[in-house]
Amino acid sequence: MNSDVRYIMDATKAHHELFKNSLPMIASENVTSPTVRRLIASDLGHRYAEGKVGHRYYQGCKYIDQIEAKAIELAKRLFDAEHVNVQPVSGVNANLAAFTALAEPRDLLISLDVPDGGHISHAKFSAAGIRGLRITTHPFDEKKMNVDADLMIKKILEVKPKVIVFGASLFLFPHPVKEARSVADEVGAKIVYDAAHVLGLIAGKRFQDPLREGADIATGPTHKSFPGPQGALILCKSDVADAVDNAVFPGTTSNHHLHHKAGLAVALAEMLTFGEDYAKQMVTNAQVLAQSLYDSGLDVLCKDSGFTQSHQIAFDVSKRGGGAKVASNLEKANIITNKNLLPWDDVNNPGDPSGIRLGTQELTRLGMKESEMKGIADLIKRIVIDEEKPERVKNDVISLRKDYQKVHYCFDGEGAYDLPFRW
Ligand SMILES: *Cc1c(COP(=O)(O)O)cnc(C)c1O
Repeated sequence: MNSDVRYIMDATKAHHELFKNSLPMIASENVTSPTVRRLIASDLGHRYAEGKVGHRYYQGCKYIDQIEAKAIELAKRLFDAEHVNVQPVSGVNANLAAFTALAEPRDLLISLDVPDGGHISHAKFSAAGIRGLRITTHPFDEKKMNVDADLMIKKILEVKPKVIVFGASLFLFPHPVKEARSVADEVGAKIVYDAAHVLGLIAGKRFQDPLREGADIATGPTHKSFPGPQGALILCKSDVADAVDNAVFPGTTSNHHLHHKAGLAVALAEMLTFGEDYAKQMVTNAQVLAQSLYDSGLDVLCKDSGFTQSHQIAFDVSKRGGGAKVASNLEKANIITNKNLLPWDDVNNPGDPSGIRLGTQELTRLGMKESEMKGIADLIKRIVIDEEKPERVKNDVISLRKDYQKVHYCFDGEGAYDLPFRW
């Protein structure tokens, strides 16, 4: 075999071994079912299908039309949405399309500040800034880790934004969408709910339902708490459907990664069948993990509000060496997490923030429940509080992980981290 090819094959195999023997706790990731992974490796990934179902610019799209139409139908059913576009290839891409559909350059957008949990695509560095929007931020209650609804209403009436954005990357509690809806029409604003992290919870009816609470558009990557292939979708009301479709194509995408749309359709079918059980367990696991970490002495955020209502939790390690060091020590024990900005951190210094963010979505997908969460809290405590050598804790991580190698909440859960074919 060519040595460069060998190098890539070896690195990929080693990556699989690492993830088979780790606790994957980055809140934005997940694992797809074997069927989804086979579809991702199919010929669909070689093709183009610009345009809408039934109206393509290229020939050869007969079966691609069937696949995309099915994905749209399943998404409409799962999310009870008037209109769905499954073509955005990522969450940032979907947000750029949403902002393009609803606003012109120089219009004002209000969103969460990045240290408060907001995503860069809501800020000047990314989609919102690139669309040329002016940006202001939601008043935030650091203790409750949520938008301060009363101050938000005042601010919306005062600054009259064109777009009100909800959703976050550190997203513990439902946002005040209803409250914003009560004043949005008065100032001529539309509401975009970025469901990135919580799309799987919404699908499983365990979080707020943004379309029912008054969002005009909901966007979201399909690979975070929603356990599908990487990509995104947009759910919206009929009155903005044409604007959204045009902003997606020809506006902000050309190829929409057709292999991922086939995988998405299957993941939607999985969530229609298993989504409610999956979402319930994700939230229970997050709450148990938070309580156990708190009991062991860690500074878990939002004790007074029950720590979390999503799949995420966060804790402050500024007094325990800082986020960078703690995340790196956890990695040495095969516990894969990320350091995270907290509201009291400086956005211009993202290298060593105070927080660690954890998500339970992937562990739950692997079949873990309350007792495993307690075990994991103890492993984290041994590293972060007892300062035990991570290399020693690693063996216990690997043995905890041994019995959890299959994907659950799908029709065919063998071999979660096996390679999709022999090589
Ligand atoms: C992850 C995330 C995105 C971006 O999704 P990508 O698929 O990575 O582009 C957008 N918004 C929020 C709130 C996110 O957490």
